[in-house]
Amino acid sequence: MNASKITCKNVWKIFGSNPKNILKNLDRSLSRSEVQEQTGHVIAVKDVNFSIEKGETFVVMGLSGSGKSTLVRCISRLIEPTTGEVIVDNEDVIKMNSSELLHMRRHRMSMVFQHFGLFPHRKVLDNINYGLEIRGMDRKKRNERAMEVLSLVGLDGWEDNYPRELSGGMQQRVGLARALAVDPEILIFDEPFSALDPLIRREMQDELLSIQKMVQKTMVFITHDFLEAIKMGDHIAIMKDGEISQIGTPEEIVANPVDQYVRDFTEDVPRYKVLSAGKIMRKEISPSTEKLFKSKTNIILDNVKVDDLIEKIADSDTPLPCCCSKSGKLLGEIDRSIVMRSMISRS
Ligand code: ADP
Ligand code: MG
Repeated sequence: MNASKITCKNVWKIFGSNPKNILKNLDRSLSRSEVQEQTGHVIAVKDVNFSIEKGETFVVMGLSGSGKSTLVRCISRLIEPTTGEVIVDNEDVIKMNSSELLHMRRHRMSMVFQHFGLFPHRKVLDNINYGLEIRGMDRKKRNERAMEVLSLVGLDGWEDNYPRELSGGMQQRVGLARALAVDPEILIFDEPFSALDPLIRREMQDELLSIQKMVQKTMVFITHDFLEAIKMGDHIAIMKDGEISQIGTPEEIVANPVDQYVRDFTEDVPRYKVLSAGKIMRKEISPSTEKLFKSKTNIILDNVKVDDLIEKIADSDTPLPCCCSKSGKLLGEIDRSIVMRSMISRS
């Protein structure tokens, strides 16, 4: 049994006139640009392997041209991989016939694009209920559902407007609502916030995080922005020239970048944004902490980010929090000076 929601095994995508033949005779020591020079073919995705757990947000991060969009389009077969397996719920998407594929795309997956991809001649409500309409749901029902998700993305009152009457951020809320309307198991985001101003962008990130807390979908989120990646991702895959350089939690990647390419992204990340309480806590437990824990005050989970701890320790009159696991076991205590140190140190 395969416990993961999406698994890619040895996925390749080569663009050009004879990709299968190129792959068969490929000298794997050649770089992507050498292959392109010698054969005129582009290796967009090179032997990619990963697994995505149900309910997690999996970020694919890398510079422009690194193969992110191509890779993620292979999951829904918007792009046909040259070779490889794409397993969704134990079923190989590559082996699906066209009606199975259509069914999967209509019922189980939704996509949100960088440039919103809204229908300009449809009102907001009719944009949102588009996926339900092509499924054949009657108008009354689909409008009800569309109003529900409209509210979820904070656009109450805008249902009768046209996309052009909305700001960029609001248009992307419509894009998000349209994707959520069909209640898919998998949501795919291709740089959804890259076209937005920084403030709006941050607002949308926070909003998506809070929506994800509620809906707990399996999300695949592409970005070229590392700070966005560590904010959004449970796991991050970092791509370079079609290959995955590293996969890990934000904390793992920032703590142990595998090479210079990854290190360059991590260098400007403040440590407190990725370090969790469990990593910085003191493991010896003092009697006063023990007492605090028993009285059930000031307890935090070990996966809370140091960034979110700062507020809790700022007031020197309140006792310092103790740290426990999800299952409720007391693990350690938080010291004000450790938090401070983790905020100023970079390694
Ligand atoms: P990213 O999304 O990371 O910016 P892409 O997946 O769009 O990267 O592109 C990866 C590489 O594949 C790039 O070099 C791009 O030029 C190339 N590529 C993408 N689509 C095609 C295509 N249809 N034909 C030829 N080359 C393509
Ligand atoms: Mg792209």
